[in-house]
Amino acid sequence: MGSWFFEPIFLSLGIIKKVMIHFTDLEKGYSLFGNKGNVWNNTAHIYKNGSGNLCGTPALSTNHVRIEGVMAAGCKECLAAYVQEQSCLEERGSLA
Ligand SMILES: [Zn+2]
Repeated sequence: MGSWFFEPIFLSLGIIKKVMIHFTDLEKGYSLFGNKGNVWNNTAHIYKNGSGNLCGTPALSTNHVRIEGVMAAGCKECLAAYVQEQSCLEERGSLA
């Protein structure tokens, strides 16, 4: 049960890190949310005002991401959902 076993997973997560979204890049109405675990693992969620975390994880705890000053979203599911929402908005905008 050595932690070396997980290294390949973390290496592959390096790719994901590159597509992390900095909080200043978020559209109005979105912010970062996460508990202590998210702070430690760099997996902050993207919180949409009025509807919650994009990945569906309940935003029930204290927002440690804000307290600790985490700057970027790292939750894979949130990033995917955010990118999808934004590309949908852009498509709609180009049609208008
Ligand atoms: Zn998330």
